[in-house]
Amino acid sequence: AQADIAVIGLAVMGRNLAMNIAEKGFKVAVYNRSSSRTDEAMAEAGDLAGNMIACHSIEELVAALKPPRALLLMVKAGEAVDQTVELLKPHLSKGDIIIDAGNANYRDSIARNDALTAEGFQFLGVGVSGGEEGARHGPSIMAGGNKDAFARVEPVLMAIAARYEGTPCCAYMGPAGAGHFVKTLHNGIEYADMQMIAEAYGLMRAGLGMSTAAIADVFEGWTSGPLASYLIEITVQALRTTDPATGKPIVDVILDSAGQKGTGRWSAIEALDLGVPASAIAAAVEARGLSSARALRQAVNAALGDAERGSIGSATPEAVADIEKTLLAGKILAYAQGFDVMAAGSKQFGWDLPLAEIARIWRAGCIIRSRMLDRMSEAYSATPAPASLILDPDFAGQIKESLPAARKTLGHAVAEGHAVPALTSALNYLQQLRASRSTVDLVQAQRDIFGAHGFERIDQPGAHHGPWHSGAE
Ligand code: NDP
Repeated sequence: AQADIAVIGLAVMGRNLAMNIAEKGFKVAVYNRSSSRTDEAMAEAGDLAGNMIACHSIEELVAALKPPRALLLMVKAGEAVDQTVELLKPHLSKGDIIIDAGNANYRDSIARNDALTAEGFQFLGVGVSGGEEGARHGPSIMAGGNKDAFARVEPVLMAIAARYEGTPCCAYMGPAGAGHFVKTLHNGIEYADMQMIAEAYGLMRAGLGMSTAAIADVFEGWTSGPLASYLIEITVQALRTTDPATGKPIVDVILDSAGQKGTGRWSAIEALDLGVPASAIAAAVEARGLSSARALRQAVNAALGDAERGSIGSATPEAVADIEKTLLAGKILAYAQGFDVMAAGSKQFGWDLPLAEIARIWRAGCIIRSRMLDRMSEAYSATPAPASLILDPDFAGQIKESLPAARKTLGHAVAEGHAVPALTSALNYLQQLRASRSTVDLVQAQRDIFGAHGFERIDQPGAHHGPWHSGAE
């Protein structure tokens, strides 16, 4: 036995991770349920195949590994993980580590950890972000589970992780579940970020009447400003690509219907469960849901007519700068919501999630990598950490500075029939937080009338009931 680690599941993610591991000088045993994929992965690996051991059976795989064994699963999330674990178990020894590196629901990771630990095995639930490119050249890695088990595979994970100014973007998040919880919120934030960028694109396209090429130029300018990020970079790439068949910008021939695999929705569900507002993330999840409800959209379009989106102004540098500020405020608020959900989850589950570390390891390798995360990491390094990113002086300043533009732009957008669900959710969230007094006084009155729930008064302590009149007089 000579392999340091096994990678099981050699689709896009698994085969690229295996090559990454091999490249860093580790011996990696590779296995896939369908053998043909194993052969394909070996062929694709070229010279790196020298550090890879192709295994065509579980027996071969287990025999190839140095004990105590470390087996990293990169199979389809859900049942495939349990089925693979069941196949492996009879061949494993106590102390062997099973690492689920797919996009598991963190609740499943906790359950798998409990079951495997009870049988004497070790388990790690590890979130890996960065897609194919990240897997091959350095993903962002969020590990959860037994700390000793993490220490044993840490050299491999650190070696393959992305680097930001030389530091690996890999960290231990906490006990089982913590790694996949953080990965889930990473994806929830990613949904919001993508949706907001798409809304900004829509405002330039339909609101300012700009061409795709001109919008690409604007986004390119933003790649060196406060919005600098991987997602803005690939937005430029998307907008600059032409469809060879029609000669049109490719975005114009792509069906406006997006799928989702679950992590965005899980983020919104966890937020609701924890009682933490994550309206921008929820709006983005819902926007994807609506986008795929094509039949309903067509029926509503036919019944009520088109949205008749009007102009929100002319394409002046000022109007474009206002959209940039709107997106900047929206982005900070969406991230603040995502981090709040993590802070609440951390408290609820007693994880002590390292928020500054999380922002730090998201600075490279992952899909939401951006300049802003550097500042977020600094914000959470303060003692005491801010109760919300909105309260960090730097972000508070940026929000305040952007707010007039955001209010004006989104006000026009709504008045002119544009759908800007994530950006307006973020703005509404802030308006609610800022207001010295909300309209929930009336809700409290209603609750007391129909359910005798009582209310507190602003001028007296204790619970009160209203002197409700018996009807509308
Ligand atoms: P897929 O999610 O498409 O899964 C395909 C792989 O799972 C194949 O190796 C397949 O084997 C295996 N598999 C499916 N069902 C079973 C089963 N019942 N038993 C054993 N093996 C099974 O692959 P990806 O590479 O896209 O993703 C892998 C994991 O990484 C997923 O959890 C995904 O959510 C996550 N992820 C993906 C990212 C991406 O950009 N694609 C980014 C970050 C995480 P076979 O060849 O035999 O069918």
